[in-house]
Amino acid sequence: KSPVTVALVGNPNAGSTSLFNALTGAQSAVANYQRVTTSLNVREITHGGVPLRIVDVPGIFSTSSQSPEEKVGCDYIHGEEPDIIVNVLDAGHLDRSLFLTTQLIETGLPRITVLNMMDEVRRAGIRIDTALLASALGSPVVETCALKKEGIDALLDAVAAMASTTPAAAPLRLHYDSHLEAAIERVQQHLSKLHPQELSPVRSRWLAIKMLEGDDEVLRHESNHVELVEEIKGEQSALAHEHDEDTASLLASARFAFSNGLLREVRQQESDPTAGFKLTRI
Ligand code: GDP
Ligand code: MG
Repeated sequence: KSPVTVALVGNPNAGSTSLFNALTGAQSAVANYQRVTTSLNVREITHGGVPLRIVDVPGIFSTSSQSPEEKVGCDYIHGEEPDIIVNVLDAGHLDRSLFLTTQLIETGLPRITVLNMMDEVRRAGIRIDTALLASALGSPVVETCALKKEGIDALLDAVAAMASTTPAAAPLRLHYDSHLEAAIERVQQHLSKLHPQELSPVRSRWLAIKMLEGDDEVLRHESNHVELVEEIKGEQSALAHEHDEDTASLLASARFAFSNGLLREVRQQESDPTAGFKLTRI
């Protein structure tokens, strides 16, 4: 049996490399400050009889980042299709972390959400409703503390379980406003005509969104389809005209709105230190 490819994907410093080490027994250097991993660490292991190929993808903030530090990570998401994405979140900074999650949802790939740094979260007295988070994100949620190697077996169990089943439900999608959805739909149709065999609806939607967003890598890939490139430009200027905002910002606002709304639902402060002293009106 060939191994199932499992990619660890998260923001820089979310703890991907620490998790990679804990999962595989490797001893790759862990970043202390801003020094992030810039190459792919790969190791094969077996869990519950399932051969797994674990890939430590260098941290990214967005799948369309232009920064050189994020290039390896972005190229990996675009160029490879891992069987499973393990989305590593810094649970203490869910506001930032969930932005990338909204983009990973759109790849349509099977995902597991890891809430790492749970030690920090507990210390801060924050409770996260993981059941609600799991249903909203359409993925299992596993809590870990990579530093103390906590939650590693639970994560491996979740990965092995996902590797040995075919996904039951259709992948989730974010809903954009009607202008944007109509533009996405038109680009998707154009893409499906150009690549009738290769593109699933999820994949063509993802590519359409990336092109409208102005993702250099995806646009370069389609650069010989002159009509498509022209259509994208037309859609972008029509959207800019309707919204007074460029398409990339429109998409980003919708993603932030989703992740902020979700955060309000799933995160509670356990004990408000000022609770006993606060005055309220009768
Ligand atoms: P990466 O950039 O995502 O690969 O993150 P690293 O694995 O390099 O970790 C970044 C920093 O966070 C390092 O100093 C780790 O020791 C620390 N770290 C990783 N996981 C945890 C955790 O669960 N709890 C705490 N408190 N620190 C962690
Ligand atoms: Mg790293």
